[in-house]
Amino acid sequence: MVDEKISLRLLMIEDNPDDEALIIRSIRKGGFDVEHLRVENRAQLIEALRQQDWDIVLSDYQMPEFNGLNALRTVKERSPDLPFIIVSGTIGEELAVEAMRSGAQDYLMKDNLARLVPAIRRELNDADERRALRLARQTLRHQAYHDILTGLPNRWLLRDRLEQVFAFSRRQHTRPTVMFLDLDRFKNLNDTLGHLLGDQLLRAVADRLREVIAEQDTLARLGGDDFVLLFSDVPDREAALALARRIQARFAQPFRLDGKEIYLDASIGIARYPENGSEPDILIKHAESAMYFAKERGGNSIQFSSDEIQAAAANRFNIENDLRCAIRNDQLEVHYQPQIDLRSGAITGVEALVRWPHPHEGMIAPDRFIPIAEESGLILSLGHWVLQRAMADAVRFKDAGCLPRRLAVNLSARQLYHQETLAAFQDLLAGSPLEERFLEIELTESGVMQNPEQAVANLSALRDLGVSVAIDDFGTGYSSLAYLKRFPIDILKIDRSFVRDLALDQDDEAIIRTIIAMAETLNMRVIAEGIETREQLERLERLGCQEGQGYYFARPLPCAELIRFLQDRACA
Ligand code: C2E
Ligand code: CA
Ligand code: CA
Repeated sequence: MVDEKISLRLLMIEDNPDDEALIIRSIRKGGFDVEHLRVENRAQLIEALRQQDWDIVLSDYQMPEFNGLNALRTVKERSPDLPFIIVSGTIGEELAVEAMRSGAQDYLMKDNLARLVPAIRRELNDADERRALRLARQTLRHQAYHDILTGLPNRWLLRDRLEQVFAFSRRQHTRPTVMFLDLDRFKNLNDTLGHLLGDQLLRAVADRLREVIAEQDTLARLGGDDFVLLFSDVPDREAALALARRIQARFAQPFRLDGKEIYLDASIGIARYPENGSEPDILIKHAESAMYFAKERGGNSIQFSSDEIQAAAANRFNIENDLRCAIRNDQLEVHYQPQIDLRSGAITGVEALVRWPHPHEGMIAPDRFIPIAEESGLILSLGHWVLQRAMADAVRFKDAGCLPRRLAVNLSARQLYHQETLAAFQDLLAGSPLEERFLEIELTESGVMQNPEQAVANLSALRDLGVSVAIDDFGTGYSSLAYLKRFPIDILKIDRSFVRDLALDQDDEAIIRTIIAMAETLNMRVIAEGIETREQLERLERLGCQEGQGYYFARPLPCAELIRFLQDRACA
């Protein structure tokens, strides 16, 4: 029986041809089919490593032109996984240990080659494992510094780069500039599209942003739709502004995904080194809060960081934190404002309005915290909390014998588009003893117009559950008859601004008349908001408005007070 020979590509670093022959002979005897090359200095070694792949290196220690440790270093730099065994006549214990520490796999004495063949066999096996391990480590390291979704640098790598760019700036007086970019309405889109398409969209955005980045600059993704661009040297604000405009221009063309055209805008906040901060995290944070200000101006805008913005951002941060606690600890309240039939004076429904009694700042108005809740995503849990509380309170109205016909709850656009909202309504309504059409949701025009197709689908699904749909603040947005027809809408709420100047402004009267006529054609009910005076009430009645709410009748009331209010009216 003939043993299968194992082929071995051996690179030998050795100055003595006699030793070479001796070593090769004992390897052949050990069952290897050896193909080998002998080199004796660094240049030859580098050339040999460059020319072909080797299975193992055997190296002498002391040579006229070279020594084993240098050879080891040269090999490990170029082929880190290649096994390296020292075979020497002279090496002492100390040097051997040092060689092992520097990455040699083993060392043997030339006068005792008995261990050579077993050592080679072992190293050939181990080399495969070492290679796999090294690749795994490399991947880990890459993952630690990169965002998996887009492959872009993450926050950690961005910090490193900022440190470098700052250090360079201190020597060369360059002007590093950080831009924080956030996609307007992306969170809604992501809730709507689902995360798979949302991820695709983010990758497409990353690709477009890569095009504006030069080699010395950095594009990073911090998570979600937050991208940061670090420009190593932007001479002045004008140049920074021009750059930011160029970035926004990358969004002029729609993104094509899954057969859909998606239009995205980007808001950009800009912070400059050193005047806006000389620490990486601070500069990023300042660019981020400038971005929030840009967003508040309606999106697609650009904002430089400033002291006022920093102060406002700190305040906003506190509110967000306190609000998160308040929701978790049930510290919010819901008040109810009655809605009245203008002709009979009967109560037709109530609108639920959230209230926040802050432990230090007193009652905080929804206008101050709802926008922050929207931006931070807290609106989803807040909205759900309000809905649950309102439905629970409705049971209390019922038990007190004064259940109004309808309960209206405000729904943010993010709730409307969120995939879990429908199921939440289903659960809530399934467990409720209240009548069909009892629950009503109020949405703004701009909310439904963010994604009309999806809005129609989601509103129809909610309506199938027995929920009525009202358009809030009506008249301030698009208000075209054409779009109204396409939506499943039951109620229009005339915005307070038209009611306010009713006595003074002829135009407002004309608008209200038109809204009422439109509603009649489309079979919708109309509620006027913000009625404060008898005069406003009478004019609205004359214009044919059926229902209204406002301080004239009642302010929003805590649950117990509302029950008293309802009971008094019922007796009257
Ligand atoms: P909105 O939905 O238009 O609510 C009507 C607002 O007008 C309420 O302000 C109400 O107190 C106020 N109001 C009612 N009658 C009169 C009046 O005669 N005169 C005047 N000047 N104001 C009147 P509020 O409670 O401060 O709420 C402000 C906004 O916050 C709401 O406007 C709504 O958009 C939002 N909001 C309130 N609660 C919630 C909620 O639970 N979820 C969501 N998503 N938004 C809410
Ligand atoms: Ca409302
Ligand atoms: Ca309103």
